[in-house]
Amino acid sequence: MQKDKVEQALLVGVHGAPELKYDEKVQYLGEFRERILRKLTKNQVREKAIYPEILQALKGKKADKLIINGSIDYRFIEKYKELATDLNKTSTVRSDPGFQGDTGLIVISNEAVEVQDITVEDRSSRLRRLGVPADLIETAGQKVCTECLSKIAEADKNELINYQQLTWIDRLAGDRCPGHK
Ligand SMILES: [Zn+2]
Repeated sequence: MQKDKVEQALLVGVHGAPELKYDEKVQYLGEFRERILRKLTKNQVREKAIYPEILQALKGKKADKLIINGSIDYRFIEKYKELATDLNKTSTVRSDPGFQGDTGLIVISNEAVEVQDITVEDRSSRLRRLGVPADLIETAGQKVCTECLSKIAEADKNELINYQQLTWIDRLAGDRCPGHK
C-alpha cells in the first residue's frame, strides 16, 4: 500500500520572516486566495456524502490540486483523496499548527483564477430546497430504490455519486430502501 503523503506547510520562511500574504495563507491551508476554485469547511468534509461541487471543480480545466486540512480525521478525508485520484488530480493532506479558520479542503489552480465566491452551500439545506426528502438526504452512501434514485436525479443528477441502486438480490436478502422510514 502506498504511504499517505502528508505535507507540512511552511508558512514562515527559514529565517522566520513572514511570507507574502501570510494572514491570507493561514486561512487557506497555505495557499493564495486568488488561486482557489472551491472550498469546503471542515464540517462539510466530515459529512458522509461527497460534495458534487468538488467533483465538478476538480473536473475543471484550471483545477490542478486538491488540498485537505490534515487536522480532519482520515476516515473523512479518504473519499476526497479517492475522488482526486479517479480524476487524475494531485491531492495533498497538509498540516500546520498555524492554520486558522474553518477551511477543510480547497481545489486550487496553479495560476490566479479570482473566483469571487468559493464557498459551497451546505448539502442538506441545498437538497431540502430542491425538494429531496430528509430521510433520503441522510442515507447518502447507501443503496436506495429506483423511485428514490430518480427523485435524487431529478433534484441534482450530480448527487448520484452518493447513492447506489438496490438490486433484486439485495431485496431477496431482506434489504429495504432506507428512503421511506
Ligand atoms: Zn426508496
